[in-house]
Amino acid sequence: MDNVIILRYSEIHLKGKNRMFFENILRRNILEKLNVFKLNAQFSYGRYVISDYNPDDEDGIIAALRTVFGLFSLSIATRTTADPDDIANAATALCSGKTGTFRVTVNRADKTLPYTSVELARKTGGAILDRYPQLTVDLHEPNFTVYVDVREKNTAYVYSQSILCAGGMPVGSAGKGLTLLSGGIDSPVSTYMMAKRGLKLTALHFWSYPYTSIEARDKVLELAKLLAVYTGKTEVIVIPFTKMQEAIHKYAESNYMITLVRRAMMRIAEKIAEKKGCGCIINGEDLGQVASQTLESITVTNSVIKKLPVFRPLIGYDKIDIINIAQKIGTYETSIKPFEDCCTVFLPDSPVTKPTLRRCELNENKIENYDELINEAVANAETFTIS
Ligand code: ATP
Ligand code: MG
Repeated sequence: MDNVIILRYSEIHLKGKNRMFFENILRRNILEKLNVFKLNAQFSYGRYVISDYNPDDEDGIIAALRTVFGLFSLSIATRTTADPDDIANAATALCSGKTGTFRVTVNRADKTLPYTSVELARKTGGAILDRYPQLTVDLHEPNFTVYVDVREKNTAYVYSQSILCAGGMPVGSAGKGLTLLSGGIDSPVSTYMMAKRGLKLTALHFWSYPYTSIEARDKVLELAKLLAVYTGKTEVIVIPFTKMQEAIHKYAESNYMITLVRRAMMRIAEKIAEKKGCGCIINGEDLGQVASQTLESITVTNSVIKKLPVFRPLIGYDKIDIINIAQKIGTYETSIKPFEDCCTVFLPDSPVTKPTLRRCELNENKIENYDELINEAVANAETFTIS
């Protein structure tokens, strides 16, 4: 008998001929997390099993695994032989200190065994009742359940609790994406959400030094570091955006400032995405939240993107829901640190809420060397690797 951790993944996405592909990526991501504990994970009949771990590390291992997308749940289990007496011993040990009602649920993957699931459940339940007369059986609404999972090769797992993990798809299984990461509350959440759907992300940040400070940039790197718990090692590409913003400020109508800034951001983003082999762009836009996120604003910013889809996972969320997720994933406290983002540089008193494509283009035509400014920003990007 020994203690093991059983990891389960969501079956739904892993069926069919792509199954191996998902399993391999998930395994790689799990092993990355287990590296610090010098542990391996054995693949065993549709689940992973971690054994021979230091009991002092148990909480740390569980916390680390709960950030791996693609894992559905985990259990700390006793591993025994498939012998009913061994199983009964493990189950009884598990009930120490428990009160109230229980049931035993048996899953018997090995159909060659000389007992049925019902017989094994009865025997195990009987052993528990003999040992703890204060407990009673309730098959319908028990206070706790003892699960017995009998697998192939004379192995059984006995446990009573499942801990929910992060769910989603393994990072890397859905391809690569470029996420626009500002220092605000929203974009770390949109980044988290798309990593959860299996994208391997590169982050892009627009920085207008000295209008925005070194601290503002470092805050974004700090957010990327917090997110790396979920996203894995991540490149953060910082775009020097000052010249472009100054040019827009100098030549364009002031109420179009934000709209034009966002169009320039998207143009640069698409070029970087292509360079980095990213198949999509992600931002934290949320319909109606601010002037730059009205339907008309999103239309004119989106229209500069020629090839890639732009994902806006927060588009239908209320701010309070976004804040709740930010708090849950641990980015909120950093996001609310008061450093300016470049979107607030040269902020007009009344930004246009219904920009038109014609006026955007008229304004952009007035900006000297517009294309060169875009290319220069791309060429002078600085890359930080965060893990
Ligand atoms: P947040 O700052 O959390 O992203 P917000 O409500 O302030 O949210 P905006 O400033 O309008 O949103 O920006 C919308 C989206 O554009 C952001 O979610 C982010 O994806 C992107 N974005 C804005 N500023 C930057 C920046 N400086 N660098 C990279 N992306 C940015
Ligand atoms: Mg912002």
